[in-house]
Amino acid sequence: MGQTVCYTGRRMKKIVIVPIGGIAPQITDSISKGLEAIFKVKVSEGKGLPEPRHAYDPARKQFQAAAFLRELRASGQGEHEILLGVTDADLFVAGLNYVFGEADIFAGLAVISLARIKQEFYGLTPDPVLFAERAAKEAVHELGHIWGLDHCDDPACVMFFSNSIADTDAKGPGFCEKCRETLGI
Ligand SMILES: [Zn+2]
Ligand SMILES: [Zn+2]
Repeated sequence: MGQTVCYTGRRMKKIVIVPIGGIAPQITDSISKGLEAIFKVKVSEGKGLPEPRHAYDPARKQFQAAAFLRELRASGQGEHEILLGVTDADLFVAGLNYVFGEADIFAGLAVISLARIKQEFYGLTPDPVLFAERAAKEAVHELGHIWGLDHCDDPACVMFFSNSIADTDAKGPGFCEKCRETLGI
């Protein structure tokens, strides 16, 4: 119970979406709508940030997720809000080939990567509807962590860990009953 109680205060906080490295407004708008539908809180768009070039690992051709969280924190935005960075950069953390997103639950920050939720990444035809669904799922997932949830065993729950894009597509856009209960929504 400890974790839930710990982060309960954040539930009332606003969510601010921060585009990192230039993201089309239609994309941030659609993520906002997805979040508002699930969390019933106000979502706004903050000041965009440049892509942190120093986070690029040329050998992996990917960016360190932690650097994006540091940039968000250093931006001085969102002291009283939750910041959700959105980037086109392909992100990784130590020990994993890639991540769809990463959260700093203590600072109330998260970042999601759009790189691997695009059909084009897999050599397929772009699908804007599927792309928007995947982006919303990953955003809701990272915010679920910020609100104290761990990964869920239910493959239909948005808190199920996505090992691949197939996992993301198989899960639903929202929380299972157990996770909703934990969140109190
Ligand atoms: Zn997760
Ligand atoms: Zn769940």
